[in-house]
Amino acid sequence: MYQEFGLYIDGKWREASDGTMMDIIDPATEEVLGSVPAAKKTDLQDALKAAKKAEPTWRATSALKRSQILRKAAEHLSDRLEASARIMSYESGKPLEQSRGEFSAAIGYFEWYAEEARRIYGQIIEGPSPRTRMSVHYQPVGIVAAFTAWNFPAVLPIRKIAAAIAAGCPIILKPASECPGSAMVLVQCLHEAGCPPGVINLVTGPSQLISKTLIEAPDVRKISFTGSTDVGKRLLEMAASTVKKVSLELGGHAPVIVCEDADPIIAAETAAAVKFRNAGQVCISPSRFYVHESLQESFSKSFAKSAKALKIGNGLVDGIEIGPLANMRGLSHAQALVDDATSKGADLLAGGSRPAGFNAGYYFEPTVLNNVSENAMIMNEEPFVPVAPISAFGNLEKAIERANDTHFGLAAYVFTKSLSTANMVSEALEAGMVGVNDMLLATPEAPFGGVKESGMGREGGSLGIYDYLEPKYIKTTF
Ligand code: NAD
Repeated sequence: MYQEFGLYIDGKWREASDGTMMDIIDPATEEVLGSVPAAKKTDLQDALKAAKKAEPTWRATSALKRSQILRKAAEHLSDRLEASARIMSYESGKPLEQSRGEFSAAIGYFEWYAEEARRIYGQIIEGPSPRTRMSVHYQPVGIVAAFTAWNFPAVLPIRKIAAAIAAGCPIILKPASECPGSAMVLVQCLHEAGCPPGVINLVTGPSQLISKTLIEAPDVRKISFTGSTDVGKRLLEMAASTVKKVSLELGGHAPVIVCEDADPIIAAETAAAVKFRNAGQVCISPSRFYVHESLQESFSKSFAKSAKALKIGNGLVDGIEIGPLANMRGLSHAQALVDDATSKGADLLAGGSRPAGFNAGYYFEPTVLNNVSENAMIMNEEPFVPVAPISAFGNLEKAIERANDTHFGLAAYVFTKSLSTANMVSEALEAGMVGVNDMLLATPEAPFGGVKESGMGREGGSLGIYDYLEPKYIKTTF
């Protein structure tokens, strides 16, 4: 499955210098799906050299040309959408329909950044005297090292690759070890679109060796990471020694407040559809439900009904709505969270274990827990599994306090029919993104990112490209 790819360095696919390979496991069967090169230090140095060689030419390449390459890459991806979606479903277990949707979103990011490349606006400022002018120009930050997680194996890399290329920066990407093929497809599209050698590089292999080598390299001026808060903190510490610019998209634990005036059935159906998407392995997945006590019964019943109706199975089979988790770690975590919550008094309304008849593959039933105690692990740790904990509230201010009582601050949601409640709650929630009666937040036009320990920087929207640019102030006296 990965034969046509490998490490992509200086415009060519190749093996690791000593030929070592790393197996990729199919999460639906637990069998080996294929293998990819395990880069050695010398391969990483080659990638750094290639990026360094490409940098002066790429930063001097016109915005129009950069834009055209991104647009062409979008066309190539569009031509191979179905085959790419199959690769993604194989390696991630994601239902095919969701893989198609993710690659369509990746096309959207290619197109968005093709447009953004031509919208890098500086400023002209009146000087302190009639004979001075001050201006601010935005210049590419330099070589970027990027690291991504496996849950969105195309969208997470594309948000970094397309932004860096649009801004005039060479980039070295280390995709998630579990799902490298989807990112390889994106790189191949850029290759076919005529992206010059060294501008985009992709390396697979041992995470720690790769991050250490790339982050310690003084020529790398920016790192961009999507993954867990723990690993993000480690990379941030490493970046400090050479004071690199850093973007971090980290974990979340999104609260959902269902207010007294909301429609509990609409809220439950909307929430269930989003909660179980990608088997709950979504950083902005709604993961703590605070429901007004008058709606708790109807909301939880409807949520459980939606959960029980979902079709579980191998993502490659048409009609499957929930596939396996990405790895065994997720499966054990899901079971531990459910067992802990029920031992602390939660009622199990749906799911709760590995589904019957699935002896291989990392499957877990879509699960709904009601009356979950605030000290249950699931209310305090990022779950990243298809388990939805529901808890009732009587006082809205207290619900907001509970929602904010976490070191995470990625996404948050509120359901209400009142405009003033919507404004009050959305402004009070400590999160980088808030959905009001809406839970589909990720789109190229909007800035995606978190506050507190959920990260720094934004991807997408008109802010996204500025994470890859540095302002330069020039003062002229004439
Ligand atoms: P992870 O942090 O364990 O791994 C993420 C990536 O980093 C993987 O490619 C992994 O191989 C690599 N990695 C692991 N250790 C590393 C190290 N020491 N140096 C360099 N790279 C290293 O996270 P995960 O379990 O793969 O992904 C799930 C996490 O990602 C969740 O916490 C989730 O919330 C977060 N996430 C955040 C966003 C966002 O946009 N905020 C999006 C998706 C996922």
